[in-house]
Amino acid sequence: MLHSKIASEKEESKYVFKPDTSATPIFGSLESDVVLPRTEIRKESMKADIAYQLISDEMMHDGNPRYNLCTFVQTYMEPQAKQVMADTMATNAIDKAEYPQTTEVEKRCVNIISKLWHAPSNENYMGTSTVGSSEACMLGGMAMKFRWRKRAQALGIDTTKRKPNLIVSSGFQVVWEKFCVYWDIEMRQVPMTDMNNLRMDIKAAIDQCDEYTIGIVPIMGITYTGTFDDIVALDGALTEYNKTAKISVPIHVDAASGGLYLPFVNPDLVWDFRLKNVVSISTSGHKYGLVYPGIGWVLWRDKEYLPEELTFKVAYLGAFEPTFQINFSRSGSQIWAQYYNFVRWGFDGYKAVHERTRDVGLFLSKSLRELGIFDILNEGTNIPIVCWKLKDGLNKKWDLYDLADRLRYNGWQVPAYPLPANFTDVSIMRIVVRADQSMEQMSLFIKDLSGAIEALDKSHIVEHKENTDETGKRIPTGYTH
Ligand SMILES: *Cc1c(COP(=O)(O)O)cnc(C)c1O
Repeated sequence: MLHSKIASEKEESKYVFKPDTSATPIFGSLESDVVLPRTEIRKESMKADIAYQLISDEMMHDGNPRYNLCTFVQTYMEPQAKQVMADTMATNAIDKAEYPQTTEVEKRCVNIISKLWHAPSNENYMGTSTVGSSEACMLGGMAMKFRWRKRAQALGIDTTKRKPNLIVSSGFQVVWEKFCVYWDIEMRQVPMTDMNNLRMDIKAAIDQCDEYTIGIVPIMGITYTGTFDDIVALDGALTEYNKTAKISVPIHVDAASGGLYLPFVNPDLVWDFRLKNVVSISTSGHKYGLVYPGIGWVLWRDKEYLPEELTFKVAYLGAFEPTFQINFSRSGSQIWAQYYNFVRWGFDGYKAVHERTRDVGLFLSKSLRELGIFDILNEGTNIPIVCWKLKDGLNKKWDLYDLADRLRYNGWQVPAYPLPANFTDVSIMRIVVRADQSMEQMSLFIKDLSGAIEALDKSHIVEHKENTDETGKRIPTGYTH
C-alpha cells in the first residue's frame, strides 16, 4: 500500500518519473523504488531484469561461499557442470517414465559408488540418491528399524515393551538425533574419552547393545574434528557379540564426508562393505563428491537389508521401479551433476583433486602450528579437516570466538565452537579444506589470521562475554555440523 502510494505521489509530483521504458536504468525505475515484500506478496508485478537486480542485491548480504571455510559442502563447480545442472533443472527425478535417462544415470552412479565401497559381487546391492546425507541416514536408520522389528517379532521379543535403540558416539551429527526423535528411537550415546582422538569407544558401544538395538552407527569423519571411528575393530567386536546375541546388530556407516574421499585417497583403509556387519552406508554427494548442495547417496549391501515395505513402485519404461526416498519430487540436476563429475574426473581426477586438497590442509596445519599459540587437534592427514585450539596457559585476553569475529573483517568465515560431551569446556576452530581452496587462498588466510591475532593482542575491548547460553556454554559462531 505504502509503496504504491509513494509511487502514485511521485507520478503526480513535478519530478515525475516517466513510465518506464527499456531505456530507464534499473535503479532509476519506479519499480526499484520500493522495499521488497516481507510479509505479503506485492500486488504489482515488476520487470524481470529489475526483479533480478533487486534479488541479486539481496544475495550480497549472504556470506561469499568461497570465503566459507567451515562448510563441508561444495562451493565451486566448473562452468560445464553448471551448464549440465541448468540444462536439467526442469527434470523431476521421481518421474521415472518421463525422464528415464535421469533414472539410468542415477543407477550408473549407484553402480559406480557400489564398486568404490566394495559391495560384494555375490550379493545384490541396492541404492538411491537422496537430498543429502541427512535423508540418506534417515533411510539407513529406517531400514534398520524395520528389519529389527521383523526379526524381533519372529523371535518372540515383545517389540512394544520398550523403544528400540540406536548406538552412536557422542560426536554424532545432528541428523541422528533427528532420526531418533522422528522415528521414536532411544538414542544411546557412547561418550568419547580422548580429546586428541575423538572416536567411538568400541567396548562401551558393544556394552550398550541389547535385543532392542536396531544398529550401531560409526562415523567416517566426525563433524567436530574429522576423526574416523575404528570400524574394523567395531566389526570384529560385533561379530563376537552377534555369535551369542538373541538378535544380531548391524552397522550403518555414516560416511557423509569420508565416503567419496577415502576410496580415492586411501583405498586400503577398510571401513566399507568389505566388513561383513556393515549393511548400509550413506554419504553426501555435495561434500567430497564435489557437487553443489542437494545430493546424497545411501546403499545397502544386499536387498535383504532394505525391508520391502519401505519401497514403493513407480512406473518406469513400461514396468515398475522401486523407489525408497522420503521426499517425492525434486530436480534431477544434482544427479546429472554427480554423474558429470564421475565422467569428467574419473578415478584419477578425483584422486588428484582430493590429494591436492589434502596438501593444502597439511600446509594450513603446518602454518597454524608455526604461529606458536595453537594445538592442532586434527592435522588433515586422514581427511582435509583441520582443527585447532588455543594452547593452555597463554594468558590471552581474547579467545577463539573473538578471533572468529575478527576474521570476518576480512570476509573469512571460520567458526569457533565447543567440543561434544566430556569436553564441552574446550573450544576449537575448524576449517574444512575443499577443492576450491588453493594454496594461494590459504596463504592469504594465514596472513589475515596473523593480522587478526596481532590486532586482538593490541586491542583493549574484547567482546563476547555475553555470548553464552543459559548454562554458561559458549554459543558457536557459525555452522558447526
Ligand atoms: C554433513 C554430515 C551429515 C549431514 O549431511 P547433509 O548432506 O548435510 O544432510 C551427516 N553426518 C555427518 C557425519 C556429516 O558430516
